[in-house]
Amino acid sequence: MKNVIFLAPPAAGKGTFSDYLVEKFNYKHFSTGSILRENAQKNEKLKQILESGELVEDEVIIPLIENVLKSLSKEDKFILDGFPRTLQQAKKLDIILSGLGVLDVVVVSIDVEKETLIDRVIGRKVCSKCYKSYNTNILEFKPKVMDRCDDCQSVLIKREDDNQKSFLVRYNTYLESTLPIIAYYKEKGCLQVIQNTELEQTKALEQLRSVIK
Ligand code: ADP
Repeated sequence: MKNVIFLAPPAAGKGTFSDYLVEKFNYKHFSTGSILRENAQKNEKLKQILESGELVEDEVIIPLIENVLKSLSKEDKFILDGFPRTLQQAKKLDIILSGLGVLDVVVVSIDVEKETLIDRVIGRKVCSKCYKSYNTNILEFKPKVMDRCDDCQSVLIKREDDNQKSFLVRYNTYLESTLPIIAYYKEKGCLQVIQNTELEQTKALEQLRSVIK
């Protein structure tokens, strides 16, 4: 199995794909959004940036990623979910990974139409404790008991940034800053693209399994 970097617009399915890989293949999953949301509980400035949908500064995010990658052992396989988001971050990540001797990486770009993304953002709820993601608009992602996590039974909440306004900021940031990285990784020869529209969830997971081998 290869190490995985997900590149995707908001609510494309990075979290769901990551949960699947963790469960099935025991990957170590690092979601920069989840880590930052946890840190934001004690940091008002960070909380405001996250709510607005803007990117946090590299001075915050790069040491964070460096630390989590350094904490891994040689046998661990990792998923980066939410990093890199800019070309500058991608170049910095190359330096970190080559310093750690990590070579086998696949970059998985998840492609979803904008209208579908908006629907998902509006219906998304996350567990307040384990951060597992649900969706009240999609049958297969509804919790078994309303507003309760299937795994830990904690209450489900809405993310502060899961509204139309913040979505549009995040989506535009994705187009401007993250899309250029796709070309960068394509050139390097490690890019794979997966379509993840509603009807193709099972097919998408099948594709995912084949590209990480
Ligand atoms: P989504 O993919 O649904 O937009 P995430 O949970 O991945 O949400 O990220 C939420 C927020 O965390 C982003 O809008 C941004 O403010 C911040 N963030 C996450 N990763 C990064 C990163 N690599 N660089 C800068 N900011 C980040």
